[in-house]
Amino acid sequence: MKPFTYARAGDAATAVREAAGAGAKYLGGGTNLVDLMRERVEAPDRLIDVTGLSTEIAEQADGGLLIGGAVRNTKLAEHLAVRTRYPVLARAILSGASGQIRNMATVAGNLLQRTRCTYFYDEAMRCNKRAPGSGCDAIDGFNRMHAILGASPSCVATHPSDMAVALVTLEAVVHVEGAGGSRTVPLLDFHRLPEGRPDVETVLAPGELITAIELPASPIAARSTYRKVRDRASYAFALVSVAAALEVDGAGRVAEVRLALGGVAHKPWRALTAEAALEGAPANADAFRAAAEAELAFAAPLRDNGFKIELAKRTIVAVLEELAGAAA
Ligand code: SF4
Repeated sequence: MKPFTYARAGDAATAVREAAGAGAKYLGGGTNLVDLMRERVEAPDRLIDVTGLSTEIAEQADGGLLIGGAVRNTKLAEHLAVRTRYPVLARAILSGASGQIRNMATVAGNLLQRTRCTYFYDEAMRCNKRAPGSGCDAIDGFNRMHAILGASPSCVATHPSDMAVALVTLEAVVHVEGAGGSRTVPLLDFHRLPEGRPDVETVLAPGELITAIELPASPIAARSTYRKVRDRASYAFALVSVAAALEVDGAGRVAEVRLALGGVAHKPWRALTAEAALEGAPANADAFRAAAEAELAFAAPLRDNGFKIELAKRTIVAVLEELAGAAA
């Protein structure tokens, strides 16, 4: 591991100031960054520890929540308001990692974790994300875990977060602070597709710090859930995951729906095509299947991951049937 300096920031403004210039990284729980430093994928000169900042979950006047960027994943998943008003979020976090990792990992760090593409972690392999312009050995390699939606000839990696998939359905807003001041970014627009620059994963400017995540008040969020399909029941990254919220009217039709997929793209994938297909449709398996077909119509499988297309469709249908059954 390359030598680095360490400083613990007392407030966000100090953290942003100390992170100015090249070579600095913010340190949250370190559950991904430290691994990357050990593997020499990341080699910062300076670590700015931000775990002492913004550790509270605050009720908002409009009925939403403001979650500090340094809140630990365990605290968020166990929070009563999250479990009752935003169950999709609690379930996504609990499915995401072991208790030990959840105890360390922060909300902001979860959003910024890097892909688990094995080629990204292996210095002997070509990887446009680790070494821009070098190529991508995953495209013709073993790519069972890789993307089927939104990929590019530069990168076919997936985003590993479960929490972020839930947050996309909840229309969360990211609060950031940088040298130019504070701003907010809808989570839907926060992560990037790879296009020609897979090394640029979010819309954060250099040195910007995530200070909080805002959850808007949302009645539909109380009728939400998360399902993760993975190779083993213990902690593994998603082959496919589905976050959904569903409101069914008195006539048995879809009054409102939110749907997002994990494990299929470079970013949490909000299924807007499926949502549009479902608005006003009967809340039944045929309509759910038709919406899933529409969402996956442009999926582009690689050699080893074509199974994800049918898996995603079936998981969408199963999750929506579960929510429709609960509504009935
Ligand atoms: Fe690198 Fe992306 Fe290719 Fe994986 S898929 S090797 S992260 S460029």
